[in-house]
Amino acid sequence: MFDYLIVGAGFAGSVLAERLASVSNKKVLIIDQRDHIGGNAYDYFNKQGILIHKYGPHIFHTNSKKVFDYLSEFTQWRQYEHRVLASVDGQLVPIPINQNTINKLYGLNLSCSEIEGFFESKAEKRERVLTSEDVVVNKVGRELYEKFFKNYTRKQWDLDPSELDASVTARVPTRTNRDDRYFTDTYQAMPLHGYTHMFRKMLSHPNIKVMLNTDYREIADVIPYKVMIYTGPIDAYFNYCYGRLPYRSLEFKFETYDMKTYQPTGTVNYPNEHAYTRTTEFKYLTGQSHDKTTIVYEFPKAEGDPYYPIPRPENAEIYKKYQRLANAMTNTYFTGRLATYKYYNMDQVVAQSLTLFEKVSQQQSEKHVNGQKIYQHT
Ligand code: FAD
Ligand code: UDP
Repeated sequence: MFDYLIVGAGFAGSVLAERLASVSNKKVLIIDQRDHIGGNAYDYFNKQGILIHKYGPHIFHTNSKKVFDYLSEFTQWRQYEHRVLASVDGQLVPIPINQNTINKLYGLNLSCSEIEGFFESKAEKRERVLTSEDVVVNKVGRELYEKFFKNYTRKQWDLDPSELDASVTARVPTRTNRDDRYFTDTYQAMPLHGYTHMFRKMLSHPNIKVMLNTDYREIADVIPYKVMIYTGPIDAYFNYCYGRLPYRSLEFKFETYDMKTYQPTGTVNYPNEHAYTRTTEFKYLTGQSHDKTTIVYEFPKAEGDPYYPIPRPENAEIYKKYQRLANAMTNTYFTGRLATYKYYNMDQVVAQSLTLFEKVSQQQSEKHVNGQKIYQHT
């Protein structure tokens, strides 16, 4: 008898498995339908011996000391600040848009305060900033919006920015200084030996059994357990009873080139040309030395693995209906990017799962104290 069946061995599931096993001394079975742990953060050495991320580039960054300290129990870190250039008007310029971007793009030499004035002169002020178009146009005006955001967003989401919540393009906020880092978080680092190595350590506790290549539906009625934690797509769990929640997918194309360095920075974004959105060179992220180098190209598509929840009001409405069903369940909990339909970064998923661990521990121990029997889930 397992105390917990955890569906999905990504960040959401692995954090819960580790906490329940090591803090609460619970017996945990964690399963994944894929043939590996780590979820979308899984990395491995390809046949040329270069460490790559199977599901696209994953760069760790957080402002949460709690999350950083927690993960530090399972990995050492390599300091890494990600930098991205966008290919616009035949030049490679920094994104997020900053002082250097404007000066390079327009051949100017504006100071920090002059840049503020520049943006103000271009901005089309919106009374209410609701959509991903509003966010950018309100801050820097239509021309920069069209050069950097409009076409990238259409390619990535197959939607116009005006059809997406403000939160999507707000992830890439404009700056008036020269800071050309992609993220400004306090902690920016990559797991020194990779994500998979870190996950292996998280799941190496004797109370944890890992089962791969298994959909939970194959075993849920066969293997006894008391409580389920589910981290897959929430609509699939409820057999799509309110219809399908849309997710955006990607196809990854990996190329290895016989050269030490391929591009000038970790990622180059292509808002306006090519069918792919960006190219990432893994060696920048991992710090690996190798005579060859591997690049990933990301091609957005509708069908395929569910990678991105699509933040827009009509999808939030569908999610709310599923959330109501989820909240009504007593011995099944939902966490993670797919099970809570949130466009979360890794650190946000870790934080969410640490919080859920507290809640689950409290609720389950209350049941124990009250002498209630917890029935096997079927
Ligand atoms: P997942 O990692 O998706 O894990 C869920 C697991 O559940 C999967 O392994 C799946 O196989 C399994 N599962 C689903 N259904 C079943 C079932 N029926 N039975 C058994 N198993 C099942 N975040 C960052 O912080 N920085 C980045 O740079 C970054 N880059 C990203 C780039 C891309 C292209 C993508 C798609 C995401 C990126 N993210 C990044 C986000 C990051 O991937 C997620 O925040 C994180 O991986 C979510 O973890 P999770 O455990 O919720 O979900
Ligand atoms: N975006 C854009 N142009 C860029 C970079 C980002 O239009 O050069 C928009 C786009 O809609 C994208 C979103 O901002 O999906 C969030 O970008 P981020 O790099 O955070 O995406 P992720 O790494 O999650 O794919």
